[in-house]
Amino acid sequence: MLTNFSYTRPKNLKEAVKQLASPGAGLHAGGTDLLGCLRDNVFAVKKLVSISGLKELKGIAKTSDNGLRIGSLATIAEVAEHPVVNERYSSLAQAAREVASPQLRNQGTLGGNLCQKPRCWYYRGEFHCLRKGGEKCFAVAGESQYHCILGGGPCFIVHPSDTAPALVAFDASVRIAGPKGSRTVPVERLFVLPGVDVRRETVLGPGELITEIVLPPARGLRSSYRKVRARASWDFALAGIALALRFNDGVVTHARAVLSGAAPVPWRSRELEAAITGSKLDADAIAKAAAAAMQSAQPLAENAYKVPLFRGMIEEELAAIGKG
Ligand SMILES: Cc1cc2nc3c(=O)[nH]c(=O)nc-3n(C[C@H](O)[C@H](O)[C@H](O)COP(=O)(O)OP(=O)(O)OC[C@H]3O[C@@H](n4cnc5c(N)ncnc54)[C@H](O)[C@@H]3O)c2cc1C
Repeated sequence: MLTNFSYTRPKNLKEAVKQLASPGAGLHAGGTDLLGCLRDNVFAVKKLVSISGLKELKGIAKTSDNGLRIGSLATIAEVAEHPVVNERYSSLAQAAREVASPQLRNQGTLGGNLCQKPRCWYYRGEFHCLRKGGEKCFAVAGESQYHCILGGGPCFIVHPSDTAPALVAFDASVRIAGPKGSRTVPVERLFVLPGVDVRRETVLGPGELITEIVLPPARGLRSSYRKVRARASWDFALAGIALALRFNDGVVTHARAVLSGAAPVPWRSRELEAAITGSKLDADAIAKAAAAAMQSAQPLAENAYKVPLFRGMIEEELAAIGKG
């Protein structure tokens, strides 16, 4: 049941930042994740600050250096359908199309997709787990089939976003506004591993919000996003990979490979990137790269199946992107 809270719709960003800085304030964008969390008592707020009327946080437009600026209130559907996203940042469009259902893509925003709470059934359920200030991670001795195999401990969530890995692969940044002014953070450094701080998912401080996502120029990048899920309907990723590669004469000269469904944050596999950089994507290089990506995997009791799943998926996706 929802607990009582007040609701406010600031008229501009300055007012929104001021309202968000007050104790117990929560931010409401599309509400598709937030309202479920409040209803299920995952956390509570005293005041909800709706940013949905702030025009300055909307829209998608090219930047002067031929990159792209996406307002944090751009819906997932707008990202999926935007011609420039499809033409130059195709893995981001693919990832956006893989998010949830059409209704959720029409309502959910890109900022909300990055900041959504983890889907762990203990965290979302009536378990006072580490992430909620409790003493233990229930997945360790419990049902762990959907938990992480990389970067885990002491909590073993997986990052739920499909768009975040694609944004990391493009070296995108987020612009953040807050009580102390604004700052820019690479999307790769937006997220916090549980080993650093088990109570937070992002580096956003009190009163801070994402105002826009900025992608640098794509300059000859070939990109793809692949998502494997447990069923042929909407679902979060069991395993996924965002690739952004540059080739010269068939040889990989630049590589970003970011895994979803693997870790508590979008997981840049530097081992995979190193394995393919300077190589042609032949069968041998692909097999070595897929093995390298999984070399430090540490599955829990029920999710060892993810290791061969990732290896197979990575091999297929590298072979496909190598063909152009
Ligand atoms: C049934 C279901 C299936 C789903 N499946 C998928 C899936 O397959 N893949 C996937 O990636 N996602 C999936 N999602 C998640 C969905 O994409 C997110 O709920 C949505 O993107 C959140 O956007 P929103 O605008 O509704 O955010 P809200 O619900 O309003 O906010 C979500 C959280 O982010 C914070 N927040 C929102 N905007 C900002 C901002 N600009 N700055 C700082 N904090 C902010 C809020 O305070 C809140 O804590 C699913 C959700 C549901 C309910």
